[in-house]
Amino acid sequence: MTADLDAPEVPDVPDLPDFTPEQYARSKARKRATAPVRYTSLATDLVAVFVLGFSPAGSALVHAAGKLAGGGWIATALLGAVALRVVLWLLDVPFSLWRERINKAWGLSTRTRKLFWFDSLRGFLIGGILFAAVSLGFFAITRAVPGNWPLVAGACGVALVFVLSFLLPVVIEPLFNKFRPLEDGELRTRLMELADGSGVKVQDVLVSDASKRTTANNAYVSGFGRTRRIVLWDTTIKNCETAEIASVAAHELGHAKRQDVVFGTAVGAVGTIVSVAVLAWALSLHVLHSAAHVTGPQDPRAIALFLAIATVLGALGGPLFNAYSRRIERRADQFGMDLTRDPAAVVATWRRLAVGNLADLDPHPLTVLLFATHPPIPARLAHARQWAAEHRA
Ligand SMILES: [Zn+2]
Repeated sequence: MTADLDAPEVPDVPDLPDFTPEQYARSKARKRATAPVRYTSLATDLVAVFVLGFSPAGSALVHAAGKLAGGGWIATALLGAVALRVVLWLLDVPFSLWRERINKAWGLSTRTRKLFWFDSLRGFLIGGILFAAVSLGFFAITRAVPGNWPLVAGACGVALVFVLSFLLPVVIEPLFNKFRPLEDGELRTRLMELADGSGVKVQDVLVSDASKRTTANNAYVSGFGRTRRIVLWDTTIKNCETAEIASVAAHELGHAKRQDVVFGTAVGAVGTIVSVAVLAWALSLHVLHSAAHVTGPQDPRAIALFLAIATVLGALGGPLFNAYSRRIERRADQFGMDLTRDPAAVVATWRRLAVGNLADLDPHPLTVLLFATHPPIPARLAHARQWAAEHRA
């Protein structure tokens, strides 16, 4: 289909119910099947983090771990952080297995047992190394500049957020997936045409081997500057029509055009500054010192308390960040439709993705508010129809 800007040709969007009663029933049944693991794992993690952080249990564990290597502050900061991650990882393993069993039963997971354990261990190692590094850096700062540590820690936190966001696609993502450039052909030509039309410089469109884990479809854009790339899951290439993949890619181009990764990272950086400020206040409270049996922000045993406060902040900030994310996603949807002028393909895409990924077709507003980073499927379908109605005139 060609887009003629003078006389826009807008394909009709079928005004059918979006999903069959069977599809609604299946979505509901899956939601019911996943809710127990979802909420018990969340609750277990929160309880564990709070018990470790707001009671002497965490500082005792951190102290014991540090003693394995002499008990100095560096050993305590590093090994204490690792010990906390080990405990939380071990607590999470049963839930991961439970989640995997459900996904297997519903035909979503294609992971081998070996890959499941690789993923779990890799996630633990990456998280553990990062948390240990943050712990070491944090106590190095609080001990070097006891009077001004929040300023220095805030600046380092912001730098870390940007470095991680920049490095994510070139360091972390390749640890989990293999990427190849999308091969020449009709699809690549269509996507490059779209990229040209959008004015976004695209180094490459990559395909990831997501099918080794899942049957679900997806695409994303990550990195910025020289590490920016659009990634299509190989499942998407296999399952979707060219026009549908084009509408997905156009959405991703919308993110690239508006520099959403950079802005998202900046929002993360602002969140980090606020977090460090609240952390500095909380770590000055004697009531928390005595609850956690620590002497203050210079005491590396306080890493458990640090984690608990960070978790509270994350839980409070999550819904705010998600609301921001949903707005960004809606804007990318709008950009994508302005680019392809093909809302019918958008409707087809959301239907296919929703059914294939067993998405929640009727999410509770509270679930959306707390957890959704993307607009719910019904909202995205309505958006496509609204676009079609507005552009038919
Ligand atoms: Zn998006």
